[in-house]
Amino acid sequence: MSIQADLSASVGHTPLIRLRHASELTGCEVLAKAELLNPGGSIKDRTALGLVLDAERRGELQPGGLIVEGTAGNTGIGLALVGASRGYRTVIFMPDTQSAEKIAALRVTGAEVRLVPAVPYKDPNHYAHHARRHAEALNAARPGSAWFADQFDNTANRDWHAATTGVEIWEQTGGRVDGFVCAAGTGGTLAGVGHALKARKPAVRIALADPAGSALASYVRTGELAASGNSISEGIGSSRVTANFDGAPIDLAWSIPDDESVPLAHRLLHEEGWCVGGSSGVNIAGAIRLARALGPGHTIVTVLADAGTRYQAKLFNPAFLRGKGIPVPAWLKQAFPAAA
Ligand code: PMP
Repeated sequence: MSIQADLSASVGHTPLIRLRHASELTGCEVLAKAELLNPGGSIKDRTALGLVLDAERRGELQPGGLIVEGTAGNTGIGLALVGASRGYRTVIFMPDTQSAEKIAALRVTGAEVRLVPAVPYKDPNHYAHHARRHAEALNAARPGSAWFADQFDNTANRDWHAATTGVEIWEQTGGRVDGFVCAAGTGGTLAGVGHALKARKPAVRIALADPAGSALASYVRTGELAASGNSISEGIGSSRVTANFDGAPIDLAWSIPDDESVPLAHRLLHEEGWCVGGSSGVNIAGAIRLARALGPGHTIVTVLADAGTRYQAKLFNPAFLRGKGIPVPAWLKQAFPAAA
């Protein structure tokens, strides 16, 4: 038994779990980092800690300081918790389309939540621009009073994933890893793990699992940002190339529809007991595709990014799923007969 000194020390070091269905289906070892076990419930606790530690090192974040960020939610929860444990306040700008569960979770962490309309990045009212302007205004009035975390373009995000997530995967597999795949929001996870693994084993294949509606799979395959369709998954996909995503060593990319990814998330809960969110479904779909591309006998790693309980009203709601044309499993219909 060991003792962890504080919340920061308890971020990361997540177990690597064998995914039984995906492994049996493909003849590969399909493994997943259980990032939903982080203290704030998602992989973004790592991002939050990495950004904060870097800011402290640079002297950009002083004791008693204020963290300002724009986020789909999970990074905000991570920043608020890391902030609470290290003595910072947090203001979060967030699009009003995010799940009620995530908004409520963020509020109870003590963060000040400011909901803004969901608009494309090029619109000045995008949540990231709101956050940047808010920090700039505070700093104009009182220099050094606010720090904009900037998860999308601050490459301390990618570098921290390389140093922690990537190194953990390397050590937990004893270097026997043939492929890594995940979706990208900021791109920090994919780029960081990609760089860390390629540096140790150039033959490792790195793949992007992109949700429908995101332009990144097209960008990787053709160099052009183009998107079609949409997805119920939150926190992933992008219409632009962020500084974290830029230069990521990606060999393969797929656009994954919801009717492929969501049933995998449902099945993982019902048959293997892991309740994961929509982005994890996209990651598992990507892992199966990568396993098929490499052939039987390979070891593929992906990520269970957060918990499905964060999306109860969508991911496990028969009426909502039917409205999106996503198959509703019989056990889910039985669990909620009124909505089925
Ligand atoms: N899954 C979930 C649930 C997330 O919140 C995020 C981050 N927004 C991601 C995946 C993508 O991670 P990254 O930002 O490192 O690309």
